[in-house]
Amino acid sequence: MEKLWENKIRKIEPYVPGEQSKEKDIVKINANENPYPPSPKAIEAIKNFSAEKLRFYPDANAYPLKKALADYYNVEAENIFLGNGSDDVIALCFQTFFCSEKPIAFPDITYSFYPVWCRLFNIPYKTYKLDEKFRIIPEDYREENGGVILPNPNAPTSIGEGLDFVRKLLEYNQDSIVIIDEAYVDFGGTSCTELTKEYKNLVVTGTFSKSRSLASLRIGFAIADKELISYLEAVKNSYNSYTVDSLSIAAGVASIEDEKYFNETINKVLKTRKRVVDELEALGFEVLPSSSNFIMATHKDYDMKELFEYLKTKKVFIRYFSLPRIDKYVRVTIGTDEEMNTFLNEVKEFMK
Ligand SMILES: *Cc1c(COP(=O)(O)O)cnc(C)c1O
Repeated sequence: MEKLWENKIRKIEPYVPGEQSKEKDIVKINANENPYPPSPKAIEAIKNFSAEKLRFYPDANAYPLKKALADYYNVEAENIFLGNGSDDVIALCFQTFFCSEKPIAFPDITYSFYPVWCRLFNIPYKTYKLDEKFRIIPEDYREENGGVILPNPNAPTSIGEGLDFVRKLLEYNQDSIVIIDEAYVDFGGTSCTELTKEYKNLVVTGTFSKSRSLASLRIGFAIADKELISYLEAVKNSYNSYTVDSLSIAAGVASIEDEKYFNETINKVLKTRKRVVDELEALGFEVLPSSSNFIMATHKDYDMKELFEYLKTKKVFIRYFSLPRIDKYVRVTIGTDEEMNTFLNEVKEFMK
C-alpha cells in the first residue's frame, strides 16, 4: 500500500558509533572506552544510592556535580554546563552558538558526528584539510566563518596541539564562537580551560566517558564564560530540563573527588600506550604521535582493511574507516596490557 504520510517524515543519515558486540571473550578496543573500571568511590556512590529517590526529578541544574567540576577546574559553578554525555552538550552548543548563515569550520578528518549535527540542524559547514602529517593548520581558520569546532587532541588522528595553537584560533576568530572538544585531553593533551577566563568566546567541552570510565552514565560538560553558559542553559531548558539523572550526579561527584585513582588509571593507559607503540614500530608500523587513549597506525606492506577484518575473525575488534586519506590506517584503543598482548600476537599472526 502506498504510504501517503511518507513525505512528511524527516530522514537523515545518522552517525555510526564503534560496534558494540554481544559476543563473549572479545577484545573490544574499537570505541575508545577505558579498559579499567570507574573509581571505587563512584561504584560505592552507586551502591549507596537510595533507589526510592528515583521517583523525584533530579536537580535540574545538577548543582553538586557543577560544584565538583568547578572546584576541579578552578572556575565558578556558573561557568559549567552539564549534559547527557558530551554528544548532548556539543549538539546543544551547535544549536546555541552556530546560528549564522556563514559556514562553520572544522577539519576534513575529525569527529564524524560534526557533519551529522550540521545536517540535522541545517548548519552550513566547510572543512579544512589537515596537512600531510595529519596536523590541523590554524591559519586556515582565519577565513570568515559562522563558528569553529575541533577536538584537541583530534580524533581519529590522536594528535594533540598546545595552548599556542588554541590562542591562534581565538585571535583569528574574535567574532565567532570557538569550541574545543577535549574528549581525550586527559591522556596527555593540553587543556585550554584556563583560557575561558581570557576569551569570552571560547567553549571547552569534556566527558566522563573516556578518562573516567563512565561511558554508560552519559556525563558531559562544557566550560565557558558565564554569559555563554546562560545561553546554553536557555536552549537546554527549552528542550529537556533533566538531561543529567541523579545517579549520574552522585557517581560523577565521587569520580571527581577520587583524583588518586584517576591519575593511576591514566598512567596505566599511558604506559601501555608507549609499549604498544614501541612494539608496533618494531614490526614496521608507522604510528601517529598520540596524546589520546587510542592510536592510528599503518604499515606500508600490509592492507589495513585486511588486518581489521582478520582481527575481527580472531575476536579482536579495532576500528577501520573507509574514508579518503585515512583508509590506510587502523584506529586501536589502548586496552589492558593483557588485551594489548592478544592484539599484538594476532597482528604478528596476520603478518606471517
Ligand atoms: C567520545 C567522544 C565524544 C563524546 O563522548 P560522550 O560519551 O558523548 O561524552 C565527543 N567528542 C569526541 C571527539 C569523542 O571521541
